[in-house]
Order: sequence, then structure tokens, then C-alpha cells
Amino acid sequence: DLLVSQIAAGEVVERPASALKELLENSLDAGSRAVAVELAEGGQKLIRVADDGSGIPGEELHLALARHATSKIADLDDLARVRSLGFRGEALAAIGAVARLTLVSRHASDPHGWAIRCEAGALSAKEPAAIAQGTRVEVRDLYFNTPARRKFLKSEATEYAHCEEAFVRVALSRPDLRFTLKHNGRLRWSLKPAEAAARIGELLGEEFIRASVAIDERAAGLRLFGLAALPTYSRGSRDDQYLFVNGRFVRDKLIAHAVREAYRDVLHHQRHPAYALFLELDPEAVDVNVHPTKSEVRFRDARAVHRFVFHVLNKALARPQA
Ligand code: ADP
Ligand code: MG
Repeated sequence: DLLVSQIAAGEVVERPASALKELLENSLDAGSRAVAVELAEGGQKLIRVADDGSGIPGEELHLALARHATSKIADLDDLARVRSLGFRGEALAAIGAVARLTLVSRHASDPHGWAIRCEAGALSAKEPAAIAQGTRVEVRDLYFNTPARRKFLKSEATEYAHCEEAFVRVALSRPDLRFTLKHNGRLRWSLKPAEAAARIGELLGEEFIRASVAIDERAAGLRLFGLAALPTYSRGSRDDQYLFVNGRFVRDKLIAHAVREAYRDVLHHQRHPAYALFLELDPEAVDVNVHPTKSEVRFRDARAVHRFVFHVLNKALARPQA
């Protein structure tokens, strides 16, 4: 029912950037190689995400917009080792409850694509549509039917900045994919498939690369790789702290603490260390099912993770620099 969906939407779709994040994650989960994003007016007027992923079979299109319908989790065992970024099946339904959403998709098994619309929770009948294999989701007029929420949106520039940040996180997490971002018709980012370090350089700047140590260590089922900036990198701000766990951007207090301790031990005065770090481990050793927006995780063996991150970083930062 619409009210419940609108309340759920408040958690999933806090602002345009949260809707964009969900759409991008769906494109990644669909195995896309290229993802094109277009925004208008900071995302409030329009968020369009087009991908070349698996697409959705015509007969399942309406399910994509149903609450708690996910194609990604079949049972509780799946939940324990979730690899996809989404698994709750509520993002599209939640967005559709508070916007005008159009979903156009074509699966390889269908001779042509299909389109379906959802406006303020009301679903249209599906219609045939011309589209190559993949999916295009358009979200227009976010919060047009919930003025109380619309009031909380900030300026276009601020909402755009949040959208760009969501885009950057996803683009960092998948350097192997092609991404573009347009805002109000202007091309802001055009990223070709690249090595991780090249992608980081493109997004965070060559200066960040020059002032960083490269990390890549494995031990006992854990791998940490990426770049950590030295104090010679002067532009370090809170915003340059990127941490990914199994490809998922996270804000994790435990790892953030281990990183801070490693920096403090070596560099004493680094207040806001800048880094782009990727931690990989067995999906069963980490619980991503903690919070609806999924930026928190819980580790089965938190102490081992803390120790590993601290030691790897500590060692890398202490290395004599060339
Ligand atoms: P979840 O990602 O948690 O499954 P969503 O509401 O985000 O839930 O999406 C619902 C379903 O719609 C997905 O499980 C997937 O089957 C389908 N879907 C959504 N976006 C895409 C896409 N870009 N490509 C292919 N399938 C998609
Ligand atoms: Mg999803």
C-alpha cells in the first residue's frame, strides 16, 4: 500500500543521490559493462541510468517494481553469502512510490524490450519498447507527491554534489566498467575501463596517486589493496576516505579505527588521511545485512580484520619512500 511504500521510501530514498546509488547498484548487479547516468537539476528533476546488463524478461518487469520482490536471493542460505549489492527488493518500489518512474528493459530471451511506468506507486500496463539489451530507468520529479519530503532537499548544487559522490564511489569500486555522468546536458565524467590505480587517479587526481603508497597484501582469507596517501598529499579531507568491502562502499568504524591507528603510529599528525582501500574476504565472514542503506557491515571476526588492516597499512606507510 502506498503509505507504507512512502514511509519505506524515506529510508531508501533520502535524497536524489540515494536513488542514484540504488539504480547504479542494480546496473552492477545485472553484470553491465557500461553505465550511463544523466541528471537534471541535481537529480530532483531527472535521474536516468542506462546499462547494457542482463535486462529483465518482459514477464518479470512488473515484479521489479513490487515491494520485497528481488531476483537475487532465493533463500536464507543466499542471504548468508550475498554477493549482489542489492537483495532486499525494495529500492525500485520505494522510488516509484515517490516519483514518476519509467523502467525500460530488454532481456536477451525477448525479441524486443518492454516499458512499464510507476507514478506515485500506481503501476501502468507494460508496453513494447525499442531498446538494445539492457535496462534504462528514469526517475522524474522525485518527491512530487510528498511535499514534506521535498522541503528537505537542499540546493541543486548540493544535491548534485551528493549524486556525484555516489557516482564516484561506484566508479571507484568498478574500474573495469565504463561510466559516464551528465548533468543538465553537460558531460561531467567519461571513464573508460582501466586498472584500479588509473581509475583512482582519474577520479581523485594524479596528485593523490603521486603522494600515495600502493598496497596489496593477503593473509588468512583477507586481502587489502589500494592506495593510501602520505602526508605530502596536502589536500586530504574527510571526503577522500574511500573504503570498499567486497566491492561495496562502506563506512565502517572498526576499519576506520584501524586505518587511523596505522597512520597515527607512523605519521603522528595525519588528521584526515586520504585513502582508497579495498578489503576482500569470504562473503560468509561479513554480514552486509545490517542497515537498509547498506553502508555498514559486521565482521564475523572483527579483531582479525582490525589487526590485518592495521598491520598492512602500518607496514606500507613505514616503508621508505622513493
Ligand atoms: P534488489 O536490487 O534488492 O533486488 P530493487 O528494487 O533494486 O531490488 O530491484 C528489483 C529487481 O529488479 C532486481 O532484483 C532485479 O531483478 C530487477 N532489476 C532492477 N534494476 C535492474 C537492472 N538495471 N538490470 C536488470 N535487472 C534489474
Ligand atoms: Mg537494488
